[in-house]
Amino acid sequence: MSVAIDQAGVRRWMDLFAQAMSEHRQELVALDTAIGDGDHGTNMDRGMRKAIEKLHADAPPDPGALLKAVAMTLISTVGGAAGPLYGTLFLHLGAGLTDRDAIDLAAYSAAWRRAVDAVQARGSARAGDKTMVDALLPAVDALERSESLEAGLAAAAEAAREGMLATIPLVARRGRASYLGERSAGHQDPGATSTYYLFESAAEALAS
Ligand SMILES: [Mg+2]
Repeated sequence: MSVAIDQAGVRRWMDLFAQAMSEHRQELVALDTAIGDGDHGTNMDRGMRKAIEKLHADAPPDPGALLKAVAMTLISTVGGAAGPLYGTLFLHLGAGLTDRDAIDLAAYSAAWRRAVDAVQARGSARAGDKTMVDALLPAVDALERSESLEAGLAAAAEAAREGMLATIPLVARRGRASYLGERSAGHQDPGATSTYYLFESAAEALAS
């Protein structure tokens, strides 16, 4: 069986992610209030709403252009660290998928690796710093190790969930939470949490 992701599939993913950011807004606000400035849930919900509006208005021609439109909207509408970091993620993911109608596992994995590298470069975050990278890296590793898109996205979502939970005991070394030092331990990272929802939405979009 050879499953590929097409334009409609990427669009479905973005709709599901926007829905998840709306449904989990309060949870993300609570997590960010504990160790940050409390704006992550509201910012991501507003940014993804704007992104979906933009996709309704413009209808980009291919998955690369679609993800670039989402990236540019998040960069221009979301403040704090989340806008530039998610913008960087979608921009580099999209750059690897331009002019492709059907995205196979190899192309998708390669695009995700470029995206995670770019996010790490932009935020200077490494594994264990208690950031979105702690969900992102294991998810992309799992995708690369897999043998099909379906199994890969299911494994990526599970790895992102485990990475998200593993941020709880960590002391933050990047971002606003790092100002708290040792007091940041015992709290789940909000960026790793929204990143888990990103992969959960991706797996759900492929299955639906
Ligand atoms: Mg914040």
